[in-house]
Amino acid sequence: MAKQPQSTVAVNARLTKGSQKVLQLLEKRNSLSTAQEIHSLLRNEDESAPGLTTVYRALESLVALGLVQSVELGDGEKRFELVTPGEHHHHLVCERCRESIHLDQCLVEDLESAIKTKYGFAVTGHILEIFGVCKRCK
Ligand SMILES: [Zn+2]
Ligand SMILES: [Zn+2]
Repeated sequence: MAKQPQSTVAVNARLTKGSQKVLQLLEKRNSLSTAQEIHSLLRNEDESAPGLTTVYRALESLVALGLVQSVELGDGEKRFELVTPGEHHHHLVCERCRESIHLDQCLVEDLESAIKTKYGFAVTGHILEIFGVCKRCK
């Protein structure tokens, strides 16, 4: 997951129409959204919005470009959100209301270098989401 940071503007020029629409929506939303949610929000704005398959494909290529992060919260559904190219987020997920909070730092980077030292293992990525009950639901 340690991708080279790249300029969002330069990448934007190479994106398909569908990808640009999805990207714009995620910019406005700034929270985890499923492909279905993204699709219906786009449809609400514009009748001629891309179909669900196009939205899926757009999300895939945005993830590959490092502009969007996909997150699994253990319910079998992928959620997506915008990230700074080359960066990633971890989340605190409430099991009652499904609300998620970004952690503002990666807690795993120190662990990764410890693993490298101890096991000689070159870590290329990690997935970490933390589940529990939020302040409001407690
Ligand atoms: Zn909650
Ligand atoms: Zn991390």
